[in-house]
Amino acid sequence: MQNCNLKFRNKIDLKRAIDFHGHLGPYLVLGLLMGDLAIKKLECKKHFGIKVIVKGAFNKPKSCLIDGIQLSAGCTYGKGNIQKLASDRIEVLFRNTENNKKIAIRLNDGLIKKLTSLRGHNDSEVFAKELSRLSPTDLFNFRF
Ligand SMILES: [Zn+2]
Repeated sequence: MQNCNLKFRNKIDLKRAIDFHGHLGPYLVLGLLMGDLAIKKLECKKHFGIKVIVKGAFNKPKSCLIDGIQLSAGCTYGKGNIQKLASDRIEVLFRNTENNKKIAIRLNDGLIKKLTSLRGHNDSEVFAKELSRLSPTDLFNFRF
């Protein structure tokens, strides 16, 4: 697989993410980028300084987002600092547990349109690689 050596801000590389998750898809990459963005914006500690609620990513492929978030934010089901809730729209709420600062991140409309137009595994993999080269602020809307 090509382009697996891309480094994210918090040193999560795509190869490690694929090893963990089992395949490369756009929602996995989006999860990596979201977690990175949240840690940067909230200035919080990975693993223990952050809690996450993932809305609207209950089933595959959308739920692949959760594995990306677990890797990049260090919130895991094992530690109990991530949970998922049903919703009709993806929104991920991150909270800095030290100062209670929060950020809510959504996919922007152009991105949602592109994701729903993807057909088949190859399409998804190609788009996933493109995503990992973009800036998070081109993909997401966020509010504090
Ligand atoms: Zn997946």
